[in-house]
Amino acid sequence: VTTTFVAHDPQRQELADAVRKLAGDFGHRAFADSARRGENAPELWKALAAAGYLGVSIPEEYGGGGGGIEDLAIVLEELSAQGCPIMLFPVLAVCASVLVRHASPGQKQAWLPGLADGSCWLSFGITEPDAGTNSHAIATRAERVGGGWRLSGTKYYITGADLADGFLVVARTGGDAQTGRSQLTLFLVPADSPGISKTHIATELTSPDKQFMLHFDDVALPADAVVGAEGEGLRLAFSGLNPERIVVAGMCNGLARYALDRAAEYARARTVWGAPTGTHQAVAHPLAECYAQLQLARLATQRAAFLYDHGHDASEASNVAKLAAADVAADAMDHAIQVHGGNGISREYGLADLWFIARVQKIAPVSREMILNYLAQHKLGLPKSY
Ligand SMILES: Cc1cc2nc3c(=O)[nH]c(=O)nc-3n(C[C@H](O)[C@H](O)[C@H](O)COP(=O)(O)OP(=O)(O)OC[C@H]3O[C@@H](n4cnc5c(N)ncnc54)[C@H](O)[C@@H]3O)c2cc1C
Repeated sequence: VTTTFVAHDPQRQELADAVRKLAGDFGHRAFADSARRGENAPELWKALAAAGYLGVSIPEEYGGGGGGIEDLAIVLEELSAQGCPIMLFPVLAVCASVLVRHASPGQKQAWLPGLADGSCWLSFGITEPDAGTNSHAIATRAERVGGGWRLSGTKYYITGADLADGFLVVARTGGDAQTGRSQLTLFLVPADSPGISKTHIATELTSPDKQFMLHFDDVALPADAVVGAEGEGLRLAFSGLNPERIVVAGMCNGLARYALDRAAEYARARTVWGAPTGTHQAVAHPLAECYAQLQLARLATQRAAFLYDHGHDASEASNVAKLAAADVAADAMDHAIQVHGGNGISREYGLADLWFIARVQKIAPVSREMILNYLAQHKLGLPKSY
């Protein structure tokens, strides 16, 4: 008995089954051990690249699989359901989606084939020490100098910056005198540009993916470093945030499956009062409730992915999916730890290290509170609260 993925489409079922097999062969223990050694699980990443799973949502003309964001979400759900939640995938979702929809032909040719086959990596930088949930407060500046640009500022919590060949960066290029709002522009910044430095941010996440603070000190960029049009940076970056939310929802659904599978297995076998602990409704019901919430979160994720992949506005659906999936991942992981009693925190059972990864999804890439603000304001017509 497991929470195995069931797709309506045979090709997607095949994809899910193949990723489950690959990730299962690697396993959670190897994933966590790699993180503890300070490595990026390179064997798993290479195997995913070789099988074409990094590029599933990238168009075929750029070496990808030609699928949609739903395919990328399935890949990460299956990885996570085997205890391998690679947090680089949501970053891949933002960068690839923004480039596919908004980059120039030259930029697409320069980056998409490498992202698809795993030979290059782009990190995404929007957050700053003083601009997290409020992207309008971005202080990183790009100024026109000669025929190009000079970029200066600091980006915070940049996932995978140690692996990056480039950064997709949102920077201020001016301001609107009437509204006082920043005019933001999106830049592709080669990682070897002089003036870039990075500092590792130590976290309690047992994850192969590391977080960095990035400093840009007067970094010279050519005119064609701009993605899309000048001043359109926030709109373009936001267009990549829906795919990111959908893929994060996939990761959370997978984490919830992992937790429920472990919990149910343990509660079927562990006998304390002459019967398996799962006999007690106090143990069984929270798991059954999480199971129901998981199925709802998966439906919400599929709906959001469908809307995005078919060119519809997926904002509300992506937010709802991410909210529901992040909540069920954290709840399921917490209940799974409870069901294991003391063993819930032992390394052998592989739960406690994933608790933080599940928990952080309520904060990043968009917090619960900001999703609720969005729904309250835009879907219920309530006054803006901030
Ligand atoms: C593991 C991890 C990976 C990340 N990767 C990246 C990355 O690759 N690139 C990138 O650019 N960023 C990344 N981030 C940053 C992430 O997007 C931010 O942490 C997130 O947007 C929240 O911003 P903040 O941390 O500055 O919180 P703050 O903006 O300081 O907010 C703190 C708390 O207050 C709440 N809050 C703030 N304003 C309101 C309000 N108006 N109403 C209600 N509640 C409010 C927030 O919801 C939050 O709970 C990452 C973060 C983490 C933890």
